[in-house]
Amino acid sequence: MSFFDTKIEFLKGVGPQRADLLKTELGIFTFGDLLQHFPFRHEDRTQFYRICDVHEHLPYVQIKGQIVSLDMVGATRKKRLVARFQDGSGVMELVWFKGLQWVSRRLKPGKEYIVFGKPQRFGRNISITHPEIEEFTEESDLTGGLEPVYSSTEKLRNKFLDSRGISRLIKKLLPEAVDKIQESLPNFILQRYGFISRKEAVFYLHQPSDAKVLAKAIARLKFEEIFFIQLQLLSLKLLRVEKFEGQVFDKVPTLTKFYKEHLPFDLTGAQKRVIKEIYNDFKSGKQMNRLLQGDVGSGKTIVAFICMLIAIDNKAQACMMAPTEILADQHYQGLKEYADKLNITIAKLTGSTKKSERKVMHEQLLNGELKIIVGTHALIEDTVDFKNLGLCVIDEQHRFGVAQRAKLWKKQSVAYPHILVMTATPIPRTLAMTLYGDLDVSMIDELPAGRKPIQTTHLFDDKRLRLFGFMRKQIEMGRQVYVVYPLIEESEKLDYKNLMDGYEGISKHFKEYHLSIVHGKMKPTDKDFEMQRFVKRETQIMVATTVIEVGVNVPNASVMVIENAEKFGLSQLHQLRGRVGRGAEQSYCVLMTSNKLSKEAKVRIKTMTDTNNGFEIADVDLKLRGPGDISGTQQSGIVNLKFTDIARDGKIIKEARSLAKEILESDPHLEQDENRLLKLQLSKMNAAPTNWSRIS
Ligand code: ADP
Ligand code: MG
Repeated sequence: MSFFDTKIEFLKGVGPQRADLLKTELGIFTFGDLLQHFPFRHEDRTQFYRICDVHEHLPYVQIKGQIVSLDMVGATRKKRLVARFQDGSGVMELVWFKGLQWVSRRLKPGKEYIVFGKPQRFGRNISITHPEIEEFTEESDLTGGLEPVYSSTEKLRNKFLDSRGISRLIKKLLPEAVDKIQESLPNFILQRYGFISRKEAVFYLHQPSDAKVLAKAIARLKFEEIFFIQLQLLSLKLLRVEKFEGQVFDKVPTLTKFYKEHLPFDLTGAQKRVIKEIYNDFKSGKQMNRLLQGDVGSGKTIVAFICMLIAIDNKAQACMMAPTEILADQHYQGLKEYADKLNITIAKLTGSTKKSERKVMHEQLLNGELKIIVGTHALIEDTVDFKNLGLCVIDEQHRFGVAQRAKLWKKQSVAYPHILVMTATPIPRTLAMTLYGDLDVSMIDELPAGRKPIQTTHLFDDKRLRLFGFMRKQIEMGRQVYVVYPLIEESEKLDYKNLMDGYEGISKHFKEYHLSIVHGKMKPTDKDFEMQRFVKRETQIMVATTVIEVGVNVPNASVMVIENAEKFGLSQLHQLRGRVGRGAEQSYCVLMTSNKLSKEAKVRIKTMTDTNNGFEIADVDLKLRGPGDISGTQQSGIVNLKFTDIARDGKIIKEARSLAKEILESDPHLEQDENRLLKLQLSKMNAAPTNWSRIS
């Protein structure tokens, strides 16, 4: 057993009680775990601020000074202790709401103290609430430095394991542990980038002597973190290419016919390029795993259809999976129109397909009569088998888990099907590289010609009459309108009420027009019915929850009204807006909000009114929310980046990826001596994917 596997209760100063808490609260079971409980920031204790320089925008400040006076202020419940504190440059207040007696007994006016905390402003006064405060001695002057700050919890703090307590434990462990920490990067990498050793990096992160070594420690650990993820993804991809042969699709007679006789419009340059990229994969003999990114309305469906045609031209079948019934139906309708012209058999299979119909489809899929099947998750149920599934298109992938993708693999008969994952959620490049590093990426970065950019405005709720006036004008011009309400799971009842109230308000105001309503509680067939009425223009206004978010395509609908827009995330707002602007008409998006908006909500609304560019929006989104929240990442298993900030570390991610590529290109199985450490680390990661960075 290695030193790092030693149980945490054997560390001096821990004992069984605290050990239990460390396990349950922080998942720290062993010495190794404790060493990897890295500080999330460091506080600069090397500098003292002068009170006259302190303002409320500083994060934390350290000040040396004297207490001038101590007063209890306020009545019983609002009682607080206020100290006036001065350092010769100015005066500020220190405030306590809790432990008043204890604090006031400890503090002596006239003595020198070091105070540490977050400055705030109340009126003209600068103050710190519940500061850390210590008497100034000769010693305290020397102990200043960069102090690591560790995450802790209420229960741990009660057992004196606050950040400082944890720091003390780690400092006890470090001297003995540090020499046992093994290097994980080969020499040639350390040298190329001038990295410090792993043992130094871990040591300095916990106990930095100055800002410079701390920066070196972080730089190395960050690079390592992202590098090993890239190495893992790229080597998985490599293995897959080696292991799985792909069917070769090189004949295109029907496709040629389709191009000549039935193509409804000229493809954009981007569409053509992407089709070529996919066709090259088809011809290569390797199994394709490709992510197709394209902003809403960029025309992914026809690309998917063309790829399906190629599969069919080569005696294979194709399927398309969508996340919802409505979407599956839209795709089915859209694809059927093309397929019928070419006499290609196509069917739809969803949760609501009747048993008898289902049975027929299963048979036809198995004997190869049915060429294209469109559907929902029902498609990947175990009972569905194909004669020869050649291509699987997965639309709006963020709703499909990795597990579901894996299920598809089992549907192979001749060879593994080629897989095309389509997403309209624009993913910033750096995030895509991290999440989908094992997929090849194609991008449709051009909208069909003649599209007018959608005009987006923001209105407060009290301007509803103006909104109604605008809607009426558009409807009179023959357009249709969406009105969307948010659905937030915790308050489903309330949201539902909002939707119904809204529906009633609108029907009263637009008596002469017809309304559709669609929400998650309706039966699929009813939803479908309402949807179809809107598609056929029998209704002018569609009132809905976000079930219409993705993929729905009604080109005549040119106005998207989003109610309670402040409650939506940016990517959702962008998706919703993408439901309009699909025809030749000028389209509009109206964001309705209450007057009270949080700072973040304001940024979101402003971003929406400023730009239509999905990638710009995704970048802002990433900065606001952090990568953990971006759709799909939850299932990726790599959200736990300790050092890397995907929004900011794009350059490092690129560098790490290209290094991983370079190494694997010259030594795909990492068999060379100089790559021995990499191979070791990789096998550890594959054994325990979440524990990539174990020190032992
Ligand atoms: P998305 O990428 O959001 O799935 P769709 O495939 O639904 O977009 O296409 C949006 C609309 O644009 C559809 O009505 C489609 O017929 C149309 N379209 C797609 N490609 C072109 C093109 N090259 N020229 C004109 N219209 C196109
Ligand atoms: Mg689509």
